[in-house]
Amino acid sequence: MLRLVSCMAPLSPGGLVYIFETYAIAGDALALNRPSCNDSGSGPSLQTRLPAQPFSAALFQEAKSMKAFEATQYFFDTAADRLNLSESTREVLLMPKREVQVQVTIERDSGELATFVGFRVQHDNSRGPMKGGLRYHPEVNLDEVRSLASLMTWKTAVVDLPYGGAKGGIGVDPASLSARELQALTRAFVDQIHDIIGPDTDIPAPDMGTDHRVMGWFRNQWEKYHGFNPSVITGKPVEEYGAKGREEATGRGVGTLTVKLTKRLGRKAEQSRVAIQGFGNVGTHTAKYLSDAQFPIIAISDATGTYYDPDGLDVQDLLRHSMTQPRGALTGYNNCQVLPVDALLSLEDIDVLIPAALGGVITSANVDSISAKVIVEAANGPILPLADKRLNERGVTILPDILANAGGVTVSYFEWVQNRQHYRWSLDRVRQELDRTMNDAFEGVWQLAQEEQVSLRTAAFMIAINRVRRAAELAGSVI
Ligand code: NAD
Repeated sequence: MLRLVSCMAPLSPGGLVYIFETYAIAGDALALNRPSCNDSGSGPSLQTRLPAQPFSAALFQEAKSMKAFEATQYFFDTAADRLNLSESTREVLLMPKREVQVQVTIERDSGELATFVGFRVQHDNSRGPMKGGLRYHPEVNLDEVRSLASLMTWKTAVVDLPYGGAKGGIGVDPASLSARELQALTRAFVDQIHDIIGPDTDIPAPDMGTDHRVMGWFRNQWEKYHGFNPSVITGKPVEEYGAKGREEATGRGVGTLTVKLTKRLGRKAEQSRVAIQGFGNVGTHTAKYLSDAQFPIIAISDATGTYYDPDGLDVQDLLRHSMTQPRGALTGYNNCQVLPVDALLSLEDIDVLIPAALGGVITSANVDSISAKVIVEAANGPILPLADKRLNERGVTILPDILANAGGVTVSYFEWVQNRQHYRWSLDRVRQELDRTMNDAFEGVWQLAQEEQVSLRTAAFMIAINRVRRAAELAGSVI
């Protein structure tokens, strides 16, 4: 029998709004009650899973308004159908173990109080401690964090790391805060969630809007409650127990697999014109890697515009310029054409498109204007299901996020291992192990996609679901 227990449990005085947890107890039959505890009465619905339905235009008629978690569920269900997974097992694997929403209040430099909403969603721990980034962005909400937490479960499984999945964030524009305010915000968030974070339970990392400084503040505040233990968080400054190569890791992984995929598809680097959406941590390192590998990078966008040169951009020049601008923006760069932000997606002369910024950017509304034959999902969830279906029908090869951007969590794992062993790896060793991990995962996904005649996304989900299901079976959580 499967039992679901929902509860309201304050973590620390003050800001907790609600929390629910699910406990699955395997017996001779599986059934699932949906969690219903939401004491505030006004929080988001806790129904985390829609009934399985066949893909239809009616279901996704307005793809633009589709919620992130529904999109993840659609990709999960497509793979689960191929695996003949029972409905009850799907429920256990898809529903998050715990969701937390907290109030985060700080004193602004002006002396005013400012209040924000913070989230941590712990999706699954069948394969090990839960792992996932912290995002500071104005559009962070529970649905998005839930979707990203679920993606982390499948991502750690597809690259075979001994982790589960989680995600967190705060609905805030970090650019609107001073460094002191950002630090105060991070410490106030830790005050609210430190009890559910730990090296053997849930290990955060950087994501959009957070970096090694934020990770350092997070660790310092957590250690005030729990004592010295740098393995509680990854992506820390290298001189403060961080790993060499962590900052470049996601971009390096994206670059490595883009080279591998284009070669596999019979495309030469020099003839594969690349466009990258986003020039933050992931976008810059991807651009550097591919430019060094002789790929012409003809367009790069950030929140300030699209920077375009059909003869190829000078990536080093762009990087030098961005370092002179607040928050690394490309504002004011004029050694190329400057187009509106959204122009990048509809450029006609692109072979490889790499979304490396926000989720949900390729939808039914703009999919027909995309010319690329290869899309590498450096961002999490950049393509919504209806657009994904159309791109597959058009023969576009998509390297899915759970594989393409797994380099970051892979080196986070190496950082955690080093912290636990009180030992340091060289940059060469980190890069070698990262390249090997990414290559092995790619080969597994590619081979299954060929054997089963499915997309790379469905193959990646099939591998990941099978690994999580097996772990849950061995633990007795599913039968
Ligand atoms: P970041 O905050 O360092 O950079 C984000 C970039 O996106 C910035 O250049 C910003 O200007 C740009 N941007 C914002 N809105 C845009 C728009 N509308 N059009 C074009 N560009 C826009 O974030 P990041 O760490 O590079 O993360 C980018 C993506 O990669 C996210 O989806 C994140 O979840 C994913 N990801 C990051 C990591 C990591 O290690 N940092 C790991 C895995 C996945």
